[in-house]
Amino acid sequence: MEQQSGNQNGTQGENKQKNRNVWWLILACLLILLIVFVILQGVSRQQTSEEISYDAFVEMVQEDRVEKIVVTTSDTLEITAAGEGGSGEKARYTTNMVGDENALLELVDGREIEISKEQPDMAESILSAVVGIVVPLLMVVVGFMMIMRYMNKSGGLMGVGKSKARSYVQQETGITFQDVAGQDEAKESLQEVVDFLHNPEMYTKIGAKLPKGALLVGPPGTGKTLLAKAVAGEAHVPFFSLSGSEFVEMFVGVGASRVRDLFEEAKKSAPCIIFIDEIDAIGKTRDTHYGGNDEREQTLNQLLAEMDGFDSSKGLLILAATNRPEVLDPALLRPGRFDRRIIVDRPDLKGRVNILKVHAKKVLLDETVDFDAVALATSGAVGSDLANMINEAAILAVKQGRQAVSQTDLFEAVEIVLMGKEKKDRILSQEERRIVSYHEVGHALVSALQKDAEPVQKITIVPRTMGALGYVMQVPEEEKYLNTRKELEAMVVGLLAGRAAEELVFGNVTTGAANDIERATKIVRAMITQYGMSEKFGLMGLAEQEDQYLEGRIRLNCGDATATEIDHEVMGQLKAAYEEAKRLLSENRKALDVIAEFLIRRETITGKEFMELFRQVQAEAPAEG
Ligand code: ADP
Repeated sequence: MEQQSGNQNGTQGENKQKNRNVWWLILACLLILLIVFVILQGVSRQQTSEEISYDAFVEMVQEDRVEKIVVTTSDTLEITAAGEGGSGEKARYTTNMVGDENALLELVDGREIEISKEQPDMAESILSAVVGIVVPLLMVVVGFMMIMRYMNKSGGLMGVGKSKARSYVQQETGITFQDVAGQDEAKESLQEVVDFLHNPEMYTKIGAKLPKGALLVGPPGTGKTLLAKAVAGEAHVPFFSLSGSEFVEMFVGVGASRVRDLFEEAKKSAPCIIFIDEIDAIGKTRDTHYGGNDEREQTLNQLLAEMDGFDSSKGLLILAATNRPEVLDPALLRPGRFDRRIIVDRPDLKGRVNILKVHAKKVLLDETVDFDAVALATSGAVGSDLANMINEAAILAVKQGRQAVSQTDLFEAVEIVLMGKEKKDRILSQEERRIVSYHEVGHALVSALQKDAEPVQKITIVPRTMGALGYVMQVPEEEKYLNTRKELEAMVVGLLAGRAAEELVFGNVTTGAANDIERATKIVRAMITQYGMSEKFGLMGLAEQEDQYLEGRIRLNCGDATATEIDHEVMGQLKAAYEEAKRLLSENRKALDVIAEFLIRRETITGKEFMELFRQVQAEAPAEG
């Protein structure tokens, strides 16, 4: 039944639309006719009479060449010449009247000239009024209406209050928890929500209240949207999604009305899920010292009001995502609103393997593929990176005309996603290639020489689009959640070894070490201020991280004098690490030269080749000595 009435409504609506279109058409035709008429009138007048100067007219009168004069309402003279014109028609002229009518009468006095005054023509005066006032007015109105219609259609101006939620509703997302790999804890927390949406009565019978909203917190690309969709998919309920930034428009009050609309729509289709992505765009704390943003505050207030207003037993659940929970207004987080916080963190090793497997389901793989190795090499990557890698690998395989994705494709894809594509057209000069080669081998060699460093997987001096001129890929033997002090120190020495190699070999240094220096400094600073790993400050906590799992900002919480001392300490430790790197390299200068030369020739060498060369040189060295 409902379906039918819906259809009827549909046809009625269509008829109305048609009628309106016909009216528009008629109006447009009339307008065009009017314009054409007016233009033709003007043209016909112009065609039949020639404009002459008043002097010429006076001359004509004196020479008795004028038969008739009509003084028009607009004070022009329409002159009919006497006995002229070959085609039987008398020639006509017009001229502007100079002086008053008496002067004219004087001029024609005593001559045989018929003179008359034009009576104002009703039709013409109406026409001129129409042309002068109505037509421009009509054009303005029509133009305005067209702009309105356009704005209405595009959802702007007249449609500003309309929620866009309708167009973002998915009746069935088709995504289940199986599509979300890793994130087991998050899934567990959301499972009860799914149960609730499935069967709200079971909970309400006992008197249990279910959360109205849950906040998914995590870095971008970790699968927050995916999880929200999966909840809707698991519970087989509609999924309304909107991004926080879509609420806020230029006009104050628009966001609030959008929120109202969204909730109205959603309530109609309850049980359902509303997903608000990037909620920090509207949910920023209102307590700012720099004046507020009216529109955002109103939107937020409306959201809060709506959240309080609806009855969660109907099965309406709001999920929101953010990667900046610290900026959210406390009112949003209080019980009864987004009181649940679900952490969607970067996946660990197992999580990454599973994500790779989920995305590789639709991809043909050959027998060389080993997801564990790929996952090990992609520590820190999020779900969207991994999904991207699988896709890049498949594209690479197709490009090379193969039927299935191999491990080599996967590793190449890892580099593409993390470092950018190979930039083959960037030609480095011979000298630069040498510098880059020594720089990279410096890193690799120092890593190999220190037993606490990660093994080298690959060294390359092919530039990448994301700016690297070359790099050493290091893959840990296993996923680490803790780093020992020795490992951190080894890391710093390894990072500074590129610069050390440059100085040692070329006696000069380049800009190539900027990123290394930044990373090394960050590590040393954290060792001193956060990890209690310096002799000088001991276990004193000198800095705090704003959001542990989101890699938030680090804020020093010590006096200025201490901050200066920290700087000196960081400087000292970096210097010591640099000296250590130089020492290691100069003791192994032979290996550095041999491997760097080899790398220049080959551009890319594997960790295995590198180790073979290194051992070979080491074996030869004592014999030489
Ligand atoms: P977020 O909302 O956290 O920024 P998305 O949910 O939009 O991230 O994730 C983007 C894409 O990354 C997803 O469409 C999916 O293909 C992939 N992805 C992210 N996390 C996962 C995961 N845990 N399991 C499977 N795929 C994932």
